[in-house]
Amino acid sequence: MKIGKNAVVGVNYVLDVDGQQLDASGDSPLTYLHGHGMMIPGFEKQLEGLAEGEKYDFIVPAAEGYGVFNPEAVVDLDKSIFLVDGSMSTDVFEGAQLQLTNQEGQPMTGVVNAISEDKVTMDFNHQLAGKDLHFVGSIAALREATEEEISHGHVHGPDGHQH
Ligand code: ZN
Repeated sequence: MKIGKNAVVGVNYVLDVDGQQLDASGDSPLTYLHGHGMMIPGFEKQLEGLAEGEKYDFIVPAAEGYGVFNPEAVVDLDKSIFLVDGSMSTDVFEGAQLQLTNQEGQPMTGVVNAISEDKVTMDFNHQLAGKDLHFVGSIAALREATEEEISHGHVHGPDGHQH
């Protein structure tokens, strides 16, 4: 068989971004149900059609990965919102990752880019936004999903949900 919708895929991978290794499957492959939006879209798309034992090496462009960089997601916030008892929270420094709540009450994670006299500049883009993702690896295991796995939308068994 080849990888397509409703295949249970065990995949070994190494992820490089800008020539740096960011992530890898390690000792045991990552197991997922193909075609259910569990992986980033460009990754699933490029694995499509591969067979067990096959090796791969491809680039997922930013737009099919974590999205393109959005300049509007870089915002200047009033320093006053970071004050705790009248002084600047020690959590706020350049490079710090902070979770804030937006007007709809949703949590948003951003990174502090700069701190000026009265503003804190934060970048709410995903840290991999605008980055091409280089994946190298192989297909370690491949089987058809069971009806139950398809209806649950996830993999069962030792590498998946156990219930
Ligand atoms: Zn289940």
